[in-house]
Amino acid sequence: MKTEQTVRLPSVDRILADASCQALIAQYGRVQTVEAARALLAGLRAAMLAGTQDGLEMASITAQLAQRLQAQARSHLRAVFNLTGTVLHTNLGRALLPDAAVQAVVEALQWPMNLEFDLETGKRGDRDDLVEELLRELTGAEAATIVNNNAAAVLLMLNTLAQGREVVVSRGELVEIGGAFRIPDVMTRAGAVLREVGSTNRTHLADYANGVNEHTSLLMKVHCSNYAITGFTKSVELDALVPLAAKHGVATAVDLGSGTLVDLAQYGLPHETTVRETIAAGADLVTFSGDKLLGGPQCGIIVGRADLIAKIKRNPLKRALRVGKLTLAALAPVLQLYRAPDLLAERLTTLRLLTRPAAAMREQAEELLPLLQDALGTSYAVTAEAMKSQIGSGALPVDQLPSFGLAIRSAPGARLSNPLGVLEQRLRALPRPVIGRIGHDTLWLDLRCLEEAHAQAFAQQLAQLNGVVDS
Ligand SMILES: *Cc1c(COP(=O)(O)O)cnc(C)c1O
Repeated sequence: MKTEQTVRLPSVDRILADASCQALIAQYGRVQTVEAARALLAGLRAAMLAGTQDGLEMASITAQLAQRLQAQARSHLRAVFNLTGTVLHTNLGRALLPDAAVQAVVEALQWPMNLEFDLETGKRGDRDDLVEELLRELTGAEAATIVNNNAAAVLLMLNTLAQGREVVVSRGELVEIGGAFRIPDVMTRAGAVLREVGSTNRTHLADYANGVNEHTSLLMKVHCSNYAITGFTKSVELDALVPLAAKHGVATAVDLGSGTLVDLAQYGLPHETTVRETIAAGADLVTFSGDKLLGGPQCGIIVGRADLIAKIKRNPLKRALRVGKLTLAALAPVLQLYRAPDLLAERLTTLRLLTRPAAAMREQAEELLPLLQDALGTSYAVTAEAMKSQIGSGALPVDQLPSFGLAIRSAPGARLSNPLGVLEQRLRALPRPVIGRIGHDTLWLDLRCLEEAHAQAFAQQLAQLNGVVDS
């Protein structure tokens, strides 16, 4: 049994004086290095007293110290490989941005910007002006404003136009978006009174008409982003609602959710109502996300009638919900790409991923298969297979895209318990974690989002799975 007296460890001073520690001090600073050395020694001493740790050479102590400092310095926000098959994965940060946006953000990080400064007049400007012109051009709307996300856009819109008043919404559109965003709750928080009309599966124009009274401020439609009502259904199209709203002198608002700016059908994807179509159908206000199908940074965009947008901008909540310069820096070049729709599928990362040819994914799967099989050993069987990707983030929830990737199953006779769970965890522990999806006793690695430029980095780290999985 060891005692405090018989545990032999060098002092913090001696460790710091070791030549190998100089580089650590230079990189992490003396204060942090001393702290880490103290914590490391305390842990080692406790383990030695408990008899679970033998004495250590200096080299081994300093190596552990380096590891500790490195782990401590690593951000909790990490880049991962998204092989889930969901292109706009909310938990993985949704849209990936094109190079033009990346460059603009880097510049905005390092330089002062004319964020609220009019370079022509030298007077104070409005940050929304930086993208408003482009948004007007791309949507046909009179005016636009930008906030932190679409949830904020809906909140701000309702609070500005319907505080203390009623908003008529179909029962079939009272959606909950992931992460506790529910239309009825947002309505309450905005100070608006929800007037539900119709039934879950069927709502008629007469239901809206009966729901309007002297307290009504808005007729609102909400995109059923993450579900579909099928069967015996009826909903009222916006163009039928607009005359009703006009007759009663109230406004119409549409929360489009994903809010695409182009007809996706031209790229072979399912058609999704565009913002322009919604404005053209007579919506007074439209809200949508910047980081869903639009393919930009996280933000919420409100477009519509100039008088209503002006009112929204004057709401003191706007200040609390506004975006920073990095968002605007990223958004402008993404919107610019929409001016060249013929080049969009190549330049806009989201669209490029959504339209990736199956043949490219298949070829990649066949190339990666032997490497992965090799790395996993005989406990697993890897095959290249067709699978289905999803657009994600509530865009077109029922439409799936034919995709290709790697399917991993436990090999017959392998004795690991919960082999797919173990492997899933090992993949997450790689230097750049790999996120797949388990279903039907298979771990699926959908290659849609593994672009050629990253395939090599993916392949290289597979070797680190060697043995780990077998043991
Ligand atoms: C996604 C979505 C929201 C929330 O948008 P965020 O940008 O995630 O805040 C709101 N409404 C609809 C219909 C949506 O699809």
